[in-house]
Amino acid sequence: MQISKHKVASIHYTLTDNSGKVLDSSEGRDPLIYIQGIGNLIPGMEEGLEGKQKGDKLNLKVSPEKGYGAKDPNMVQRVPRSAFGNAEVKKGMQFHTDHGQVVTVTEVGLSEVTVDANHPLAGVELNFAVEVVSVREATPEELDHGHVHGPGGHHH
Ligand code: ZN
Repeated sequence: MQISKHKVASIHYTLTDNSGKVLDSSEGRDPLIYIQGIGNLIPGMEEGLEGKQKGDKLNLKVSPEKGYGAKDPNMVQRVPRSAFGNAEVKKGMQFHTDHGQVVTVTEVGLSEVTVDANHPLAGVELNFAVEVVSVREATPEELDHGHVHGPGGHHH
């Protein structure tokens, strides 16, 4: 069975940036399980996996446009150091804003802190090494919910 729209696929993957640094990996964990064709994964992954079947191994290069988007300069902001109160603020730290957004500290000055609300992988070219572990039909209930049920998926 090939991966196509509304199939449930489980995959092992390792994600690296262009310098070869590992950003994320399913190694040592359960495979990632998802429904093809409904936006569970970034578009570049879905496109690359279309038509693949159990046992296939592939390397996918995904541009930011088909990944987490380009970096939006408007989402980089300077805020007064005092906005963090007495909390220690260091480059690389992440905070949740009142709006549920995640911002990353990119620069710490004496009076100002620069925070970036872009997705950490925005603007990054992604290299995925993928192995297809299994492919099956999605159940009507899974399609209705938009996510996978059972092992590796939702339990409810
Ligand atoms: Zn559900």
